[in-house]
Amino acid sequence: MGLFGTLKEAFVASTPSTDRGSGTTESKGAYWCHDCDERLLDLDVAGEEPPACPDCGDEMDFERSPGSTGCAC
Ligand SMILES: [Zn+2]
Repeated sequence: MGLFGTLKEAFVASTPSTDRGSGTTESKGAYWCHDCDERLLDLDVAGEEPPACPDCGDEMDFERSPGSTGCAC
């Protein structure tokens, strides 16, 4: 296993550290098709356009995530 560890270290060292430079990748919400109960995370959708439901093809509705406050009032 010594060889594997060495290889892995070399790989990590050669990985560019600018990997996380694409800004914040936090999800702001998700797209829903309420008819089909299909959900697509906004991070999984390319661009700003609402995607079509993979089930029925209708335009999906964007729903903001409640956030990390945890308050449901
Ligand atoms: Zn649908």
